[in-house]
Amino acid sequence: SKAKLFDENTEVKTTFKDVAGLEGAKEEVQEIVDFLKFPEKYTTLGGKIPKGALLVGPPGTGKTLLAKAVAGEAKVPFFSLSGSDFVEMFVGVGASRVRDLFKQAKEKSPSIIFIDEIDAIGRARGKNAMSGSNDERENTLNQLLTEMDGFGTNTNVIVIAATNRADILDKALMRAGRFDRQIFVDLPNLSERKAIFEVHLRPLKKAPGLDIEFLSKQTPGFSGADIANLCNEAALIAARTNKKAVEKQDFLDAVDRIIGGLERRSNLFS
Ligand code: ATP
Repeated sequence: SKAKLFDENTEVKTTFKDVAGLEGAKEEVQEIVDFLKFPEKYTTLGGKIPKGALLVGPPGTGKTLLAKAVAGEAKVPFFSLSGSDFVEMFVGVGASRVRDLFKQAKEKSPSIIFIDEIDAIGRARGKNAMSGSNDERENTLNQLLTEMDGFGTNTNVIVIAATNRADILDKALMRAGRFDRQIFVDLPNLSERKAIFEVHLRPLKKAPGLDIEFLSKQTPGFSGADIANLCNEAALIAARTNKKAVEKQDFLDAVDRIIGGLERRSNLFS
């Protein structure tokens, strides 16, 4: 089957209320929502609307979710692709894919382009002698920079990129007029974990008196994605024994299972 060039979602349902915690980051991206909704308000004094923002933070902290919520709040189409998809691509495909993506997004403007794992294409140039596909990656990166530089003043496409490795990115990406805004998306603290639990417990049949504070205290270091995964696991564990509701013990069993997974993950990387 033919690989899809990128994803296009013209009716994003995600809004800020789906994003728990991340108050600072939400405040910062609210500005992008305003740029998309009321561009004239911002350009009237001769200012130029920013073209790009970079979401920086550990895996699973809600960067994709937040970018999608910007599109949902502004009611604009969401075009997305992942930098890691480029890794196995044939010569010449990366740059043309970027070109097509921007062409579509401009036709449907105002719109958002989201590039997940931008580090896969945006690593500092000429520092990866091991990789044979370096030229292809550089072509893709150059095309991305060319597209962003080519935006006219009234294009109204905003490019949001995400990475957990801002330190390895090519500095050219961060230059003024490109991804010149960095927004940090961190692991949740206790009260933020509570808020994330509230979101992901909502669809579950919970045993009465289930203590969210307790669950939040049992999960230091968990990302939002880990908590979403935990709630789902707990529901499956409870269902396996035909329970009518998900109980505290199911969550504790799920915590054990997920911490086991996290430990394997960190052994892999250490
Ligand atoms: P990665 O860097 O691995 O791509 P990410 O930061 O983009 O991760 P998301 O893909 O947005 O993380 O998060 C995965 C899922 O975890 C979300 O779809 C959501 O279900 C849950 N999640 C993560 N963060 C939050 C949050 N702050 N509030 C609610 N749910 C969250």
